[in-house]
Amino acid sequence: MSIKISSQFDAGAIDIVSATSAGAIDLNIRKDSHADITQWFYFRLQGAQGEACSIRFLNAGQSAYPDGWNDYQAMASYDRVNWFRVPTSFDGQVMTISHTPGMDSVYYAYFEPYSWERHLELLDRAQMSEQVRMQDLGSTIEGRDMNVLIIGDPAAAGAPDRKKVWVIARQHPGETMAEWLVEGMLDALLDPSDPFGRQLLKEAVFYVVPNMNPDGSVHGNLRTNAAGANLNREWNAPTIERSPEVFLVKQKMKETGCDLFLDVHGDEGLPYVFVAGSSALPTFTAEQAAAEKQFADDFKVASPDFQTEHGYGESPYTPEVLTMGSPHITHAFGCLALTLELPFKDNANDPDAQTGWDGARSARLGAAVLQPILRAIRR
Ligand code: ZN
Repeated sequence: MSIKISSQFDAGAIDIVSATSAGAIDLNIRKDSHADITQWFYFRLQGAQGEACSIRFLNAGQSAYPDGWNDYQAMASYDRVNWFRVPTSFDGQVMTISHTPGMDSVYYAYFEPYSWERHLELLDRAQMSEQVRMQDLGSTIEGRDMNVLIIGDPAAAGAPDRKKVWVIARQHPGETMAEWLVEGMLDALLDPSDPFGRQLLKEAVFYVVPNMNPDGSVHGNLRTNAAGANLNREWNAPTIERSPEVFLVKQKMKETGCDLFLDVHGDEGLPYVFVAGSSALPTFTAEQAAAEKQFADDFKVASPDFQTEHGYGESPYTPEVLTMGSPHITHAFGCLALTLELPFKDNANDPDAQTGWDGARSARLGAAVLQPILRAIRR
């Protein structure tokens, strides 16, 4: 039986160079659909059960984040439900997966995918809660829906005094761990037996955008939308033509106000969970610095997966800072705004050889983030 590689499915992405035998599969990581960014891959291999496969990514050294392949183990699954890590090496140019599939069909991906179908199911499940209204903000470039979940009635008695908490994820669509986190956060927030969820819904109104980049997600892009825009560089002057996703969300934020903003991402290089704040802003105050530190300290208590030792560190102000979500929101609303980064690789403080960092661990972190949010809105 001959082998076959394919990627014509939701978020599928790979370029085949040569795939004639299991022992010599040569591939290239595909570019984002409308930009020169290569990093995300997701494909299916059939016909190689029991054969020692050598799957080589010839252009790994030219990807957007080559450091992402150091100490990286690719993910694989036979059923797209249970994902596990497979032996992967990188010599500075070529990345190689060495794996003997146990079944006729196996999927390999950069990280556990979060499908468009699952995204729609997440929205549907959330709206079953009487706490939730789902609003359509408009459409992406390719006509997909931009939805925000509004949790807690903003028009209820006393609600105007409640804190407005905004959570967005997947501006960079290949950072699927971000939507896994949102799923875990929503499940806890809407669980009537969760004490943090119960309190938060008395004291806050949530605005949640589980997927900021639907077109890029379906295309299997790492970082850009269907116009080739990196949405996390569009916040200063988004346009309907180039970055409708940011334009529509920012418009809604102006209407609602914002007291706390979380923008969830994945980091290709660092094997840790961490936050990045707005300290590069010239207007950054000691009070804002204290709020960021308190949130991080509270998060550490809420989840041992969160840490503050490793992160991006301080960076100087450049005009680009105001184009990024979190600093832009701190600048515009004066509020606490954080970029939350989850690893593609693993949590080096508590590694798991079987799964590495994955969707389930991201979802648990999403449930845990309710604790620091509750503390933050009470200050
Ligand atoms: Zn990102």
